[in-house]
Amino acid sequence: MTQAATAPQTGAAATLRDVVQVMDELYPPALAASWDAVGLVCGDPEQPVRKVLAAVDPVAAVVDEAVAGGCDLLITHHPLFLRGTTSVAATTAKGKLVHRLIRAGVALFTAHTNADHARPGVSDALAHALGLTDLRPIDPLPTAPQDKLVTFVPADAVDSLLDALAAAGAGTIGAYDRCAWTTEGVGTFLPRPGATPVIGEVGKVETVPEVRVEMVLPRERRAAVIAALHAVHPYEEPAYDLYELAAPTSPWGTGRIGVLPEPEPLQAFLDRVRCGLPATGAPWRYAGDPQRAVRTVAVCGGAGDAYLAAVARSGADVYLTADLRHHPASEHLAEGGCALIDVPHWASEWPWLPDLAARLGAALTERGTTVRIDVSGIVTDPWTGSLQGGTP
Ligand SMILES: [Zn+2]
Repeated sequence: MTQAATAPQTGAAATLRDVVQVMDELYPPALAASWDAVGLVCGDPEQPVRKVLAAVDPVAAVVDEAVAGGCDLLITHHPLFLRGTTSVAATTAKGKLVHRLIRAGVALFTAHTNADHARPGVSDALAHALGLTDLRPIDPLPTAPQDKLVTFVPADAVDSLLDALAAAGAGTIGAYDRCAWTTEGVGTFLPRPGATPVIGEVGKVETVPEVRVEMVLPRERRAAVIAALHAVHPYEEPAYDLYELAAPTSPWGTGRIGVLPEPEPLQAFLDRVRCGLPATGAPWRYAGDPQRAVRTVAVCGGAGDAYLAAVARSGADVYLTADLRHHPASEHLAEGGCALIDVPHWASEWPWLPDLAARLGAALTERGTTVRIDVSGIVTDPWTGSLQGGTP
């Protein structure tokens, strides 16, 4: 079943390389967790792509849908292979899928935790489906560590120093390079016997008008920037301070916390969830007083009970995620934690697919290519049905 589509099949096809490039811009692979396996699983970067199917899972039914639909590319959220493999022989279920995809000329691409962490990503789509605004991550990714270099240099050497430090990687702030702060002051020193001062002489206190220069730098560039300082600074022994900066909160990360336009009882929010997310036929569970007021809401697409503590600290009134386990949920509630809503895994991540289709389609259209992107409606949770257990 196909839920949505963008762009008819006319105009120039994109190449798989084009699509991968756009996907990597929307969901940078560098944002993926270290244990994850994202990117191209099979396919030739030069093959044309006219039709794409987006789905949550690369399971047999979805591969069948992609092949039957004449798709050139299947994009899924979950990886086919998460751990290293030494064989794709058609002797396993996954190996069979790889063979089926390659025989039919269908490429497979995965955007998993990089799509979770990106902005907008999987949990943004989930939050938007529930009407939340002012979104921030539940668990922000750390920003890249930065240092600050402070040094002191005669005024006529400032420009060459800034050029050299910038070339070594210092002074970049967002889209701006060679950023620095300078203040004028006076430096003083007493050269000891054995020194060969550029200014002044041994045994005599010297005072020199100097400029204090401050620049930020990525910590990984520390050695290169200090080497550049020594190379270009006119003094025999340049004075400098190096500070490790506190990391600001990153806008990227797992889950989202947002607010509803108005507070509402949990009961009303449950209706919002029922209407906002796709049905799967599986039961949805909640815990909490149906009359309790809900305004701040935490959501996490996929299995989210690892973030219960972060949610509890955030002051959220309710947390919606999937695959909540007995003990973590029970302990969270016993500690007076917020209300919980446990929805099927697929239903929590599916809202991302139409968002992905729209963004990918728009970016490919901008590049002058025409690609049709369909969204799979096949429920890929592994359960066949549900039943009410026990003896009445
Ligand atoms: Zn998932």
